[in-house]
Amino acid sequence: MTQSANKRPHVDGYAESVSSIELEQQVFGENPTEVRDTDHYTQEYVGGMVDKWDELINWKKRTESEGRFFIDQLKSRGVQTVLDAATGTGFHSVRLVEEGFDTVSADGSPQMLAKAFQNGIDYGGHVLRVVNADWRWLNRDVHGEFDAIICLGNSFTHLFAEHDRRKALAEFYAMLSHDGVLIIDQRNYDAVLDNGSGSNRTYYYCGEQVSAVPDHVDDGLARYKYTFPDNSEYFLNMYPLRKNYLRGLMRDVGFQQIDTFGDFQETYAEADPDYFIHVAEKS
Ligand code: SAM
Repeated sequence: MTQSANKRPHVDGYAESVSSIELEQQVFGENPTEVRDTDHYTQEYVGGMVDKWDELINWKKRTESEGRFFIDQLKSRGVQTVLDAATGTGFHSVRLVEEGFDTVSADGSPQMLAKAFQNGIDYGGHVLRVVNADWRWLNRDVHGEFDAIICLGNSFTHLFAEHDRRKALAEFYAMLSHDGVLIIDQRNYDAVLDNGSGSNRTYYYCGEQVSAVPDHVDDGLARYKYTFPDNSEYFLNMYPLRKNYLRGLMRDVGFQQIDTFGDFQETYAEADPDYFIHVAEKS
């Protein structure tokens, strides 16, 4: 893949994203298990949850457990431009910048983006190009074309309606170059739904002192509780995506070749991995 000057993506919206930050607490209301709404993530990645996120994922351990998996996937395809669509606090964006990728860092939570921007500075003096954008309207807020889009850390699971998933995937597809690649990961919800199993933290959430356990699981909701050493508790309400369902959606949107890895391995027994990683090629 080549990159020309006019192909270089450009970014709007950072000024607005950082200026709109207000400290808040998570809000789930009287019936937390009834909260099954795609927009609700903006009320979950706020305040203490943002502050605690890096404790939960532990950058050093996560770097060790991921190894070069994502970097190798991108480099082996000649990728130069990457959109980190679910930047969170910037773990992958910083890694990508350090590896020389021309990276744009998007997220729908201004608070997570502000933390990412600060982390970029703190971890190596990188000025991340951040943009506040919801996947459903990505093309409106992020301009240009990318060789790769990554959506990692079990982020896609925040979309509760099928039409939102299709819309987000269509937006990703449209922003990729003709031979671009989309990488999405997800928790192994098949194991959680079918066997009540599904351990956690082994690969992604590596903070040793943090517990992440299912609080409620049914076909339409996986609500996880995160407890930190100071006994603070936070929750995330997510949609329990089944692996083959998501693969089917990617195929419907137009991705031609989809390889699914289990905990970074090509071969695995279906129930074993904590996480699946889908690598979807456009052509
Ligand atoms: N990728 C990061 C990581 O692995 O540490 C963050 C993962 S965090 C589980 C999910 C992120 O996705 C949050 O920062 C959240 O704001 C973002 N997100 C969820 N739904 C979104 C949407 N519809 N549009 C844009 N960002 C979204």
